[in-house]
Amino acid sequence: MSEQHPGFETLAIHAGQDADPNNGAVITPIYATSTYLQDGVGSPRQGYEYSRTRNPTRSALEKCLAALEHGARGLAFASGMAAEDTLLRTLCKPGDHVVIPDDAYGGTYRLFSKVAEPWGVAHTAVHLPNVDAVRAAVRSRPTAVVWVETPTNPLLAVADIPALAEVAHESGALLVVDSTFASPYLQQPLTLGADVVVHSTTKYCGGHSDVVGGALVTADAGLGERLAFHQNAMGAVAGPFDAWLVLRGLKTLAVRMERHCDNAERVAAFLQAHPKVGQVLYPGLPDHPGHEVATKQMRRYGGIVSCRLRGGAAAAIEVCERTRLFALAESLGGIESLIEHPGRMTHASAAGSPLEVPDDLVRLSVGIETIDDLLDDLGRALG
Ligand SMILES: *Cc1c(COP(=O)(O)O)cnc(C)c1O
Repeated sequence: MSEQHPGFETLAIHAGQDADPNNGAVITPIYATSTYLQDGVGSPRQGYEYSRTRNPTRSALEKCLAALEHGARGLAFASGMAAEDTLLRTLCKPGDHVVIPDDAYGGTYRLFSKVAEPWGVAHTAVHLPNVDAVRAAVRSRPTAVVWVETPTNPLLAVADIPALAEVAHESGALLVVDSTFASPYLQQPLTLGADVVVHSTTKYCGGHSDVVGGALVTADAGLGERLAFHQNAMGAVAGPFDAWLVLRGLKTLAVRMERHCDNAERVAAFLQAHPKVGQVLYPGLPDHPGHEVATKQMRRYGGIVSCRLRGGAAAAIEVCERTRLFALAESLGGIESLIEHPGRMTHASAAGSPLEVPDDLVRLSVGIETIDDLLDDLGRALG
C-alpha cells in the first residue's frame, strides 16, 4: 500500500487489521473472550483487561472506521441507537438545547422526543436544507448540538455540511452528522467540518442484513476519549462477532456502493417515467432540490430511492405488497432489495408529529441484484 495516502479501498481492507503477530492469521479473529490474562497485578497485555472496555476485534473495527472517515477516534456500539444515546448523553446535559432535522430517522426522533426531552434536553426540529432557518434556531437560545442527517430517511433531503458546520461553530455548538445513508464511501463529513459522524453500521457498513450495530467517529481525540469513557461506563458496546461482521462488510463497501448507486440511478429513472408515480425523490436527479449540494459533498447519490404514488396511500401499500424481488421489510443498505411503506412501518412512530411522512410514500433500498430483474419486478408491481 502507498505509505503516504492509502486509498479508501486499501484502508477498508487493511486499516487496523494487521496480520496476527502470533500466528499470521490474515483476517482479524473473533476474540470471543470477556477477560484477559494479566502478567502481574495491574499489568494487562496491550491494555486489554475486560471486553466491555476493550476487545481486539472491536478495536480493529474502531480503527478501520476512524481511518475511513479521516477521524481521530472510532467507537463501535451494539446498535446505531446505542451510539446515538451515548453521544447524546456525552454532549448534552439537562437544560441543553439541540437542533434536529424535521425529517430525522424515526428512532432518532423518538430518542429526542421520548427519552432526551423528559431528561431535560429540549430540541427544535428544523428543515436543514434551509441554512437560515437553522441559524435562527441556533441563535434563538444557547444550543449544544446541531444534529444533521444527510441524505435523510425517507425523504432524501440533503443538508449542506460545510454551511451548517459554520452555523454551529459560530454559536459554539458541535455539528453531528448521521451519515448512515451515504456510508463512509460516499461522504466523509469530518473532512467537511463536522465534529462527529454517526453510523448505523446495520445498514451499508455491514451491508448484508445480518448484524445490528452502530458507530461514532470524532474529529477530535479529546472528544473521542470522553466518548470512550462513556462507552465503557454505559456499556452499549458491539460484541466481537458483530464487530467482525461489520469489519468484513467494510472490506467490500466501495464495490457494493458503486453497484447500489448504478442500480438506484436506473430505478429512479424508471420510476420517473412511470405514469403511476407522481414524484421520485433521489438526490441524483437534477430536479431534486438537494442535487447541487449532494454533487458537491458526495461521491455519488446512494442506493435509496423514495417515490410518491399518484393513487395515494392505497396505491403505495399495494405496490409494497406486490413486489416479489423487492422484499417487504424495514431496514436498508443490504445487498438485497427491500421495499417499505414509511408511514405505516419505519416512521409510524412519527405519526401526528411534525415529522409525519406522506402516506403515499414508498421507500426502496435498491440492492445489487441484476438491474433488469429489479426493473421487471417494479414494473409488474406497479401494474
Ligand atoms: C437505522 C438507522 C439508525 C438507527 O440504527 P440502528 O442500528 O437500527 O439502531 C439511525 N439513523 C439512521 C439514518 C438509520 O437509518
